[in-house]
Amino acid sequence: MKIDHLGIAVRSIDKALEFYRDQLGLTVTLRESVAAEKVEAAMLPLGESRVELLEASAPDSVIAKFIDKRGEGLHHIAVTVPDLPAAIEKLKASGARVLNEPRIGAGGHLYSFIHPSSTGGVLLELIQE
Ligand code: ZN
Repeated sequence: MKIDHLGIAVRSIDKALEFYRDQLGLTVTLRESVAAEKVEAAMLPLGESRVELLEASAPDSVIAKFIDKRGEGLHHIAVTVPDLPAAIEKLKASGARVLNEPRIGAGGHLYSFIHPSSTGGVLLELIQE
């Protein structure tokens, strides 16, 4: 397993890039709109993982709700697993709160989210490449 990316909720990707790209020196390799989730995303590789900046594209986006409640900040940690359906079955069997069955995301990867109540307070995204 490895950390695939850290998802950071921001009010404005362009504003956040003034830090992550212009000051810290990371490079944007992907910018995309995820219509189903009502978010804009920018991916910036960092070592073997990535920073994912997330901006709401509608007022009812999960990212808008997150920022309303908690302000900008770390939204989720994404971990790559070799077999997502098997990992989800195992987690459910042991009582973890799985938020969605594996589904296909924008990059063509399978993903599921685990509720923060099961993980020590951080939303966890599991990904199978
Ligand atoms: Zn993510």
